[in-house]
Amino acid sequence: TGKFFVGGNWKCNGTKESITKLVSDLNSATLEPDVDVVVAPPFVYIDQVKNSLTERIDISAQNSWVQKGGAFTGEISVEQLKDIGCNWVVLGHSERRHIIGEDNQFIGKKAAYALIEGLGVIACIGELLQEREAGKTFEVCYQQLKAFADAVPSWDNIVIAYEPVWAIGTGKVATPQQAQEVHIAVRDWLKKNVSDEVASKTRIIYGGSVNGSNCAELAKQEDIDGFLVGGASLKGPEFATIVNSVT
Ligand code: 13P
Repeated sequence: TGKFFVGGNWKCNGTKESITKLVSDLNSATLEPDVDVVVAPPFVYIDQVKNSLTERIDISAQNSWVQKGGAFTGEISVEQLKDIGCNWVVLGHSERRHIIGEDNQFIGKKAAYALIEGLGVIACIGELLQEREAGKTFEVCYQQLKAFADAVPSWDNIVIAYEPVWAIGTGKVATPQQAQEVHIAVRDWLKKNVSDEVASKTRIIYGGSVNGSNCAELAKQEDIDGFLVGGASLKGPEFATIVNSVT
């Protein structure tokens, strides 16, 4: 469905020095032309990355404020992100849901605001291990999807990232079958609850311990339209391998 989409979520990692090296590795990498590639540096390095990274790769933030900027200490506004040339934002990441405590409704509002102001949104969903073990994977993903669907004005600039929490940073990647099963369920949910068109056009990417060795098998799955990569996106050559895994 649509163009393959690969995002690198650098999370709270890096220094000026390590990011200079990563950007230089990305600039010299050969990337398949028919793939959308986006990296999400920590806020404080976005400007550095924007000014040194090839225009082939787009820039995302890892979070954004829920409304227009102003007296919100410690926050970064959508307007500021646009001002420095950032076109995307990751919202609803499991680390923000489960460590920081953001809830579905707040995340939905953030998505709506970012979209209205012109950013693309990488909308993350995914179940905890105990939810999977309790047979609640679909229920949890549908609730998270519904919160996005209830809030957003349009699905034109949304990429859905399915990131099972038990697979994030654990080395325990979902099997291609486990991922495909949820991706197709997400697509069916969109068909029933949004529209056929949105279901067929929206890219659903997988995240959670994706690396240079497991990406090819995952990429073959019918409903896996790309990846959101954490740890392996900090290594330029390995990230390029993942970008190029599209079949
Ligand atoms: P890892 O690739 O490090 O498991 O992280 C995935 C992720 O959370 C991307 O947003």
